[in-house]
Amino acid sequence: MTLPPLVEPAADLSVDEIRRYSRHLIIPDVAMDGQKRLKNAKVLVIGAGGLGSPALMYLAAAGVGTLGIVDFDVVDESNLQRQIIHGVSDIDTPKAESAQRSVAEINPYVQVVLHQERLDSSNALEVLAPYDLIIDGTDNFATRYLVNDACVLLGKPYVWGSIYRFDGQASVFWAEHGPCYRCLYPDPPPPGMVPSCAEGGVLGVLCASIGSIQVNEAIKLIDGIGEPLLGELMVYDALDMEYRKIKVRKDPECAICGKNPTVTELIDYEEFCGTVSDAAVQAAAGSTITASELAAMQKDGKDFLLVDVREPAEFEIVSIPGATLIPKGDIPAHLSELPQDKPIVLYCKTGIRSAEALATLKGAGFASATHVQGGVTAWANQVDKSLPVY
Ligand code: ZN
Repeated sequence: MTLPPLVEPAADLSVDEIRRYSRHLIIPDVAMDGQKRLKNAKVLVIGAGGLGSPALMYLAAAGVGTLGIVDFDVVDESNLQRQIIHGVSDIDTPKAESAQRSVAEINPYVQVVLHQERLDSSNALEVLAPYDLIIDGTDNFATRYLVNDACVLLGKPYVWGSIYRFDGQASVFWAEHGPCYRCLYPDPPPPGMVPSCAEGGVLGVLCASIGSIQVNEAIKLIDGIGEPLLGELMVYDALDMEYRKIKVRKDPECAICGKNPTVTELIDYEEFCGTVSDAAVQAAAGSTITASELAAMQKDGKDFLLVDVREPAEFEIVSIPGATLIPKGDIPAHLSELPQDKPIVLYCKTGIRSAEALATLKGAGFASATHVQGGVTAWANQVDKSLPVY
């Protein structure tokens, strides 16, 4: 199914623009008309991170006339392994501003609009409204549902991508012509079940594979060429080097784009998705210690078992001295080996997974178990600053 062009063509291209875009202009399916449509297009990219970096750079190079960038984060050294729109001199500066500098360097004919604020249900409709198409490069579920719902309510196409380790996915959601994100994923995963890239890692170059698919789909929609990735989920496996397409159907029962929608306005997406499960919140209440308190327990020679619930690769990067590694998923199988006669202290990278593991221990009768707020990251920031933070 080919759709009509999303954007009307601009009046003309300057001589400089004709020179710059000559390799596009000689493609019959793009040509002058298609390039003028790109010039007139307004694309919003959410997140100037892993997917947003290649997406913004190629959208700019392609001559998309207006690029909106939503990001309120600053550039960190650990971003540079994949977020190629930023460089060493951008560390500690806002990502949106760093991305704007790179876009200007690639193509000065692009107008950049910065949105340096957290997108939420109070501002999303207003931020998205002026744009023709939305590209999502974020990796949290609350933002995905928020952007999906805002796009459905505004009738805009939503070009989505997701990455983790060696696996990537991409699709185009557009309720007027096919399914939306909720048709594919009606419910968010239980909090703590799906690790983020910060917890599980991502191969840097995977961002280019998926980000370039998103730009490709955006260009096709703007110019009305080819078959959009609408009603199809592209699944990419970088280790097997395999691309597969899976059909996604519009769900007549979909909460927002179905026959009887129950979601008719934006909701509280943090609450909808949760960040920590109720069980973990309950387990951690009154059973949370700080990194400094843990250091004091060690200094005082207290007898306790310190358990690191992260994955072996993370343990290899940095750990708290004296810790025993039992990854969170292995804890149920190791319950019988844990001591009943002394306290158990759990930690992870930031305190989310250890709270989940704490709920498992409490449920198995280890009433005095605690976990470390902020995990090994807090330890490296507060107790031993010589340790790396990853
Ligand atoms: Zn739907």
